[in-house]
Amino acid sequence: MSRFSSLTLCLDMFGCPNRCRHCWLGHGPNGRMEPGDLRFLAEAFRPLAKQLEVFSWYREPDYPDNYRELWALEAELSDQKTPHFENLSVWRAARDPDYVPWLASLGVQRCQLTFFGGEAMTDRYTGRKGAWADLLETAERLLAQGIAPRIQVFVNRETVRELPAVEALIRERDWEKRCEAIGVPFSAFVHQGGCDGANAQHYPIWVTPAELPMIPPLLADYSLRHWKEKSIAAVFGQTEAAICHKLGKNRRTGKTASDTPTFYIDRNWDVYPNITAPAPWWRLGNLRRDGAAAIADCYREERSPAQRARRTVPLGQMVRAGGDPESQRLFGEGDYCDYLLNKYCEGAVKE
Ligand code: SF4
Repeated sequence: MSRFSSLTLCLDMFGCPNRCRHCWLGHGPNGRMEPGDLRFLAEAFRPLAKQLEVFSWYREPDYPDNYRELWALEAELSDQKTPHFENLSVWRAARDPDYVPWLASLGVQRCQLTFFGGEAMTDRYTGRKGAWADLLETAERLLAQGIAPRIQVFVNRETVRELPAVEALIRERDWEKRCEAIGVPFSAFVHQGGCDGANAQHYPIWVTPAELPMIPPLLADYSLRHWKEKSIAAVFGQTEAAICHKLGKNRRTGKTASDTPTFYIDRNWDVYPNITAPAPWWRLGNLRRDGAAAIADCYREERSPAQRARRTVPLGQMVRAGGDPESQRLFGEGDYCDYLLNKYCEGAVKE
């Protein structure tokens, strides 16, 4: 049996308190899984990987009350433990006084906070009332522990109108100077995200070049630094029309399997590669019913419907099937190829 050089497994044990409108991971129900489930997952895939790492989440990290126990269990079951990411549970940070000090004890220096505009817009796009208040409380708790907030804002034709509210907040809260005082440079960035998962619903209000001048200077400057780009146009990519023109005659097909995959496993034990949204056409199998070896074979041989489509259908054909050659919507080329592939597969599933 051949083994992956490395394999990362992320189990959606508890889901997420939010239902963000841009969420690429989708809005499935939250689970309540046991530590034994994570053990079962690790043991099932252990013979298939030279290096194994497991995570107890792929939506909100540290959401359950036993987050410390799960962190320790992840370390026990993994060959090597990645340091804590910049993602955190804002829901927990605003409620649990021990949580942010724990993050600081792990050496976390920066945590990402996601805004969509002012209070009402941020609550609506995060999918729960009180999200904005939790973000502000979290920023204070982070700074008190020497952790810098990093501000992320998702832009579409609706949220772009409220970017000045985010810029005003950065100034009102004096985040630039306060981060300087703790020795961690303040950072912020805007982007449109991928057009997959829940964010695909925003295609009708997707950002176009006409909205880019509405991005306030402070957020634009920080975005250039974050993305290492010279212009805000480069941050947002090319128009759909330009990409369709470029790829319209492209005969290339593509490979989606690698020797170092990451798998997402939902609460029902369905397994997906983390290439784009975990949609039905990406499903590799069910761990309880099919077993780990069959799932690994499906992935390697690119047999899920989406992998098969990418392997056999030229990009140009997908452009002709689902692209809009008149559209001014802005995309990174890779994200647009994922959008086309998902659209192609969704159509095939419905037919
Ligand atoms: S984007 Fe993150 S925080 Fe928002 S619903 Fe998805 S997993 Fe939860």
